[in-house]
Amino acid sequence: MAMCPYCNGFEKLEKICTVCGTIMEDSGKVSDFLDPYGHYNDEETVKLGDGFPRTAEDDICPHLVSCPECGHDQVVFVQE
Ligand SMILES: [Zn+2]
Ligand SMILES: [Zn+2]
Repeated sequence: MAMCPYCNGFEKLEKICTVCGTIMEDSGKVSDFLDPYGHYNDEETVKLGDGFPRTAEDDICPHLVSCPECGHDQVVFVQE
């Protein structure tokens, strides 16, 4: 099974804020935010419920990154 290096802490996800140029912080998987009861589901079920229909089949892990400076946030699609 593919694993996201950012979810597993192998690498740090760093993205430059398109608004102010500050390094944005990884806030975690998008599905963690959209499904507060995600711990009742298995991994595949959570992915299917994250609002990005292709993420499960393509092994893409959507991460939410947010800018500590201006509050801008965006989703980064990580290929697992
Ligand atoms: Zn991830
Ligand atoms: Zn910013």
